[in-house]
Amino acid sequence: MPSALRVRFAPSPTGYLHIGGARTALMNFLQARRQGGTFILRMEDTDQGRSTPESVQAILDGLNWLGIDWDEGPGKEGPYAPYFQMQRLGTYREHSDRMLAEGKAYRCYCTREELDAQRQAAEKAGGAFKYPGTCRELKAPPPGKRAEDAVIRFKMPSGEGSVSFDDKALGVITKPYSDLDDWVMLRADGIPLYNFGCVIDDHLMDITLVARGQEHVNSTFPQLMLYQALGWQPPDFAHLPLILASDRKKLSKRLHPEADVMRHKADGILPEALLNYVIRLGWSHGNDEVISREQMVEWFDFTGVGTTSGIWDRNKLLWLNQQWLKLLPESVIAERLLPFLEAKGVQAKGDARLEPLVRALRERSNTLEEMATTAANVYFRSGVTLDEKAAAKHLTGDSLGLLRKVREALTALPGWTVEALDGVVKTVSESSSVGMGKVAQPVRVALTGNTTSPGIGETLLLVGRDEALSRIDAALARG
Ligand code: GLU
Repeated sequence: MPSALRVRFAPSPTGYLHIGGARTALMNFLQARRQGGTFILRMEDTDQGRSTPESVQAILDGLNWLGIDWDEGPGKEGPYAPYFQMQRLGTYREHSDRMLAEGKAYRCYCTREELDAQRQAAEKAGGAFKYPGTCRELKAPPPGKRAEDAVIRFKMPSGEGSVSFDDKALGVITKPYSDLDDWVMLRADGIPLYNFGCVIDDHLMDITLVARGQEHVNSTFPQLMLYQALGWQPPDFAHLPLILASDRKKLSKRLHPEADVMRHKADGILPEALLNYVIRLGWSHGNDEVISREQMVEWFDFTGVGTTSGIWDRNKLLWLNQQWLKLLPESVIAERLLPFLEAKGVQAKGDARLEPLVRALRERSNTLEEMATTAANVYFRSGVTLDEKAAAKHLTGDSLGLLRKVREALTALPGWTVEALDGVVKTVSESSSVGMGKVAQPVRVALTGNTTSPGIGETLLLVGRDEALSRIDAALARG
């Protein structure tokens, strides 16, 4: 086995990229980057009823958006190609033929009806179904059956024994042979079942560490039996904690929209924030909360992975997203904001106000979507919709008098700079002997329709001279 780390992410392309899958991919990717290893992407597309090219694309899109790039896999064919299991059927057949010849596997002719009846009987008796080995000793097909219609089953060693492994996250786990049965490796049509395809590929692709979700722990035992039967050295294993929904149920595609990675993109979450969030759900580095990709690469190790499930917490994700909105360069946020603005009918590409807007709004926005909504409603249109409650409170009586004074001073102001504009509020508040807030709030409501906005000078500048004066006039007209 090669000594350099080779890890893989092996999704079944039967839907979008699931958040749990994204985290598995991320952890493998990080470990590979940290150790100078290789990260392989393999499509386990053997479920012919559910695997689709659209799902393959959705997974690639999700990984690309998150910046989790693979060294070998679709589009990066290497010495271990192909990376789609359906293109590797010959390999599986070859190995199962060899196992048949060596007496390590056998053909099974039991029908689905027979097996279903046995399963039901076992469940009724309160036990788990185990294949009883009906066809184990057959030397030829029973009358009326054909070898080519049979499935191929793995032959468990007879007698007592147990199988164990030292999981990097969970420690040593053991199962007695008596808990395992003669499982199906290959269907009659030559399509492998998960355990078989997975082991053959992991071995042939020289995978040194298999890191996957905890839901696969029990699959590891039959897989280890197969390594043993083939005389192959198994890789190391790390089984990663699950991510549960906030209702503590398994994150399901049907019930929990947050399970879909690309849904977060559409919601205006930054990939930096999503990566940061999911890595923290199953791993920690001291008390660090905001962790960059570079830091993850430097710090991540499977031995630091926890064992308990992480619970989805949207507020925490939003908080992290805001941190990342503040941390990334304005130009980057501005660029990413464009499609959100466009969806609202605003073409802001090349607009000089874009970066100042990002600077002003990122303190107050949790998502790009929120930022775009404010930008479109307040800064990229003429006129503004007043919040009636805010207007009733701040655009009446004395407040309108103060607003009028601000308007006069603004018209007289030669140059519009943030300092000069803030100075106007100060001067009016001093000359009227009222607090700055009393002056600023009517201006703010007149300009933005609401009571929260960046600083007044900044807001005036962003709205622009003509538009600001016209909004103030509209507010004054209420008096
Ligand atoms: N195709 C399996 C899945 O998507 C892969 C499990 C594994 O990593 O071994 O769940």
